[in-house]
Amino acid sequence: MTVILDGKKVSSKILSIVKERVEKLSITPHLVVILVGDNPASRIYVNNKKKTAEEVGIKSTVIEFGVNVTEEELLSKIEELNNDKSVTGILVQLPLPEHIDKNKVIEAISPQKDVDGFHPLNVGKLAVGIEPYFYPATPQGIIMLLDEYNIGIEGKHAVVIGRSNIVGKPMSQMLLKRNATVTTCHSYTPNLDEIIKTADIVVSAVGKKIVRCKMVKKNSVVIDVGIYKGADGKLTGDVDFDFVSPSCEFITPVPGGVGPMTIASLMYNSSKVY
Ligand code: NAP
Repeated sequence: MTVILDGKKVSSKILSIVKERVEKLSITPHLVVILVGDNPASRIYVNNKKKTAEEVGIKSTVIEFGVNVTEEELLSKIEELNNDKSVTGILVQLPLPEHIDKNKVIEAISPQKDVDGFHPLNVGKLAVGIEPYFYPATPQGIIMLLDEYNIGIEGKHAVVIGRSNIVGKPMSQMLLKRNATVTTCHSYTPNLDEIIKTADIVVSAVGKKIVRCKMVKKNSVVIDVGIYKGADGKLTGDVDFDFVSPSCEFITPVPGGVGPMTIASLMYNSSKVY
């Protein structure tokens, strides 16, 4: 029987743990989220982060900049926040307008306050096998979900589809760290279908329907990171759930799988104080 991995339930459990942890801290963590421009999706994500932070006792402040803010203004605000001892976490909501160099902005954030885990120092620490200050929220949330269901990773063949800096690459690194044999696929990968068929664990982070009927091995674990509006206007993922799920041992739904785990994982990061 296929088990549907309940991201909502597990995320609630993690958020309760985070809340308890925050209560025991000698200072209240303070997450500052920087929002640039008026992208409606970004605004929804930011509001959701703020609301959840407050629910677990983390102070949160949203700093908004207009779409025409200069890179210098943004970098100067980040410097100010880096030097502010009362601020324990800084997150810049992506995407940024094109005139701003995203990498410069990420690099400006103190690695000890980089709750997204995107700073090159944190990325590099993960790559060389040193504990980073923060792991990126989505892959960390996926590992938490696998662990909660006691799904073994060691020795498994994990196929990660997508190689973005926020999901695919850190996911591959984190699975490797847990002793999986990892194949990372992307838009230049030939024979994707054949590779997926050899996977014990599939993590798809693409943003379009890519894992379809009969593609997965019997009793595999399928994690669907993708989330976007389908032709019918409803939220959907990368996996053709109805056709793929009967072959799986475990599968995440969309919505209600990886999404809630990402936010819980971000709150876990935001409760860390260095
Ligand atoms: P991204 O930066 O656009 O990366 C997409 C990746 O998919 C790229 O590496 C791309 O390859 C690869 N790809 C595209 N077409 C492909 C194909 N036909 N075959 C194999 N690989 C292909 O996206 P992202 O930021 O990682 O996000 C991916 C999806 O996850 C989106 O739907 C996003 O909304 C969702 N997401 C969800 C959460 C959550 O919490 N649920 C969090 C983050 C992201 P190339 O590198 O070769 O272009």
